[in-house]
Amino acid sequence: MGIPLRQYYRLLARYLSPQKRMVSLLGILIVANLMLQLARPQLLRIFVDTATGTRSDYALGVTALAFVIVALLGSALEACSEYVSETVGWTAANKLRGDLAAHCLALDMSFHKAHTPGELIERLDGDVTKLSRFFSQLVIGVFANALLLVGVVIVLFREDYRVGIGLGVFTLSAVGVLTYLRGIAVPYWAATRQLSGKFYGFLAEHLAGTEDIRANGARGYVMFRFFEQLRAWLPAMRKAYVADVSLWGATILTFALGNAIAFGLSAYLWAEGLVTIGAIFMIIQYTELLRWPIEQIRNQMQELQRAGASIARVVSLLEKRSRVVDGHVSALPSGPLSVELRGTSFSYEPDEDPVLQDITLRLEPGKVLGLLGRTGSGKTTLARLLLRLYDPTDGSVEIGGVSTRDTTLAALRSKVAFVTQDVQLFQATIRDNLTLFDPGVTDNQALAVLSELGLGAWLDSQPLGLDTVLAPGGAGMSAGEAQLLALARCFLMDPGLVVLDEASSRLDPATEHLLERAVTRLLANRTGVIIAHRLETVERADDILILEHGHVIEHGSRVDLLHQPDSRFNALLQTGLKELLV
Ligand code: ATP
Ligand code: MG
Repeated sequence: MGIPLRQYYRLLARYLSPQKRMVSLLGILIVANLMLQLARPQLLRIFVDTATGTRSDYALGVTALAFVIVALLGSALEACSEYVSETVGWTAANKLRGDLAAHCLALDMSFHKAHTPGELIERLDGDVTKLSRFFSQLVIGVFANALLLVGVVIVLFREDYRVGIGLGVFTLSAVGVLTYLRGIAVPYWAATRQLSGKFYGFLAEHLAGTEDIRANGARGYVMFRFFEQLRAWLPAMRKAYVADVSLWGATILTFALGNAIAFGLSAYLWAEGLVTIGAIFMIIQYTELLRWPIEQIRNQMQELQRAGASIARVVSLLEKRSRVVDGHVSALPSGPLSVELRGTSFSYEPDEDPVLQDITLRLEPGKVLGLLGRTGSGKTTLARLLLRLYDPTDGSVEIGGVSTRDTTLAALRSKVAFVTQDVQLFQATIRDNLTLFDPGVTDNQALAVLSELGLGAWLDSQPLGLDTVLAPGGAGMSAGEAQLLALARCFLMDPGLVVLDEASSRLDPATEHLLERAVTRLLANRTGVIIAHRLETVERADDILILEHGHVIEHGSRVDLLHQPDSRFNALLQTGLKELLV
C-alpha cells in the first residue's frame, strides 16, 4: 500500500500550521470524546454491580444520570469537533485552491495549451475537495481511532491480562484482515467505473451524432454496440456487489468472532470467580466499542491511499515551473516603441517543425506594420512573441530596444496591447470588461473612450450603463461591438505598441466604419503591428511583411512594394487578395 508519508507531512505542515490553534482545539475535542467513550462501559459496570449488589437507589440514580450526562456531552463534543474539523479542512483546502489557481495563472501559455480546462478544474476542485477531508479528518481520524483502540485494550488489560491479550490480538488481526479484504473488492469497483465511463462516453458521442447515425442507417450497429456494453457491464457489476456483500459477511463474522472471544473469556473469568457480572457487561461493551474504530480505520486507510493519488497530482502541478520568467528591466520607455526581431525562430513544442523561421525585421517607433499571409502561416504566433506569451526558440524579440526576455512581464504587458482575433468578454459589468478589473480607471475616462470610439449610443441603450452586466462569453454582442470594446480597453491602457489581430469575420459597413475610426485614433502616435484581413487595414500600413510557412517572403515599405510591379504584395493586391484576406 503506497502511502507517501513525507508528502503528506509537507502538505499538512504547510496548510495546517497557520491554523495551529484550531488544530489543537480539534485534537483536544477528539481526545475528550475518546475519554467519554472509554468511560461509558465503566459506568455500565458500576450500574450493573450496584443493581446486583447493594441495590442502593441513590447510587443507581446517580450512575444512570452520569450515563445520560456522558452521552449528552459526547454528542456535544461530536458536534463541536465536526464544526472545527470542517473549518480546518475547508480553510486549508481553500488556501490550497487559491495557491493552485494563482500558480496556474502564472504559468505560461504552453502549459495552458497542454492542459484542458476540464483537467485543470479536476485538479483545482476535484482533487482539492478530496483533500479537504484529508486535512481535517483523515490523519487526525486514523490517529484518534488508533488511540481509541489502544485505550480500550489498555483498559481491558487493567481488568485482566487474559482479556487484554485476547482482545488485543483480535483487534490487530481484525484491522489487518478487514483491510486486506477491502482491497479485494477495490479492483471490481474500479472495473465497473471504467465500464460506466465508457458507456456514458459512448452514449454522449452517439446522442450528439444522432442525425448522422440516422441519415447513414447506422442504427442497427449503434444498438448492437449499446447492448454489447450493457452485457459487459452486468457481470462486472454483479462481481463488485458480490465482493461487497462477501466483505460485509466477513466483517460480521469477524466481529462475531470478537464477541465469541469476549464471551468465552468472560465465562472463564466468571467461573473462576475473578470478575463481577458488571465487569462482564463492561468487557462485552468494550468489545462492541472496538467495532466502530476498526471499520473506520479500514475505510480511512483506503481514503488515505486515494488522497495520496490526489496529493501526488497536486504536488506535481505545484512543482511545474513557468518557461517564461521575469527579467530585470521593470519599465519600458514611454511613447511609441520600436520593434525588432533578430533571427527569430519559434516552435510550439521542442520536437515540432518551427512555426516561425529566422525572422528579422525592424519597425521604427510610430510606424505601422501590416502582417499578411495565408491561414496557418504564423501571423498570430508572431504576435504572441511580441507579448511574450512564449519565448522565441532562437534569436530575440526587442520592444523599445529591450529584449522581451529582460523585461518583467508586467512592464511589457502594460506597454504592449494585444487585440486578439476573437475577443474574450467576461460575465461582468461593462466597466470591468473595459478596465479589466483595474479600479484605477475612472468612470469619466471610460465614458470618454467609449464615446470617442462611437460606442456612446450603444452604451446609452444598455439598461444600467457601465454597470450593465454582460452575458457570459459576450453573448448578445455583435463581433464588431466586441472588437470595439477590445479597442477601448487598449485606449485605456495607453500602450506604446498596439498589436491587432483582426477578426476574419465580416462586419457590417457601419460597424466597420466605426472600427476604422477607432483603429486610426488608437494608432495615432503609437507603433502598430496589424494582422490585416481587410484592404482598408492594409492601406494604413507603412511597412508590409508577408509570411509563408513561417518564412518572410517579402518585407518592405508599402509604397515601395506598390511601385515594384513584380512584388508579391502587388500580385496579392491584384489577384490573391480575396483569397488571402478572408
Ligand atoms: P490565421 O490567419 O488562420 O489566423 P495564423 O497565420 O495566425 O493563421 P498561427 O495561428 O500563427 O497562424 O498558426 C501557425 C501554425 O502554428 C499553424 O500550423 C498552427 O497549427 C500552429 N499553432 C498555432 N497555435 C498553436 C499552439 N498553441 N500550439 C501548437 N501549434 C499551434
Ligand atoms: Mg491567426
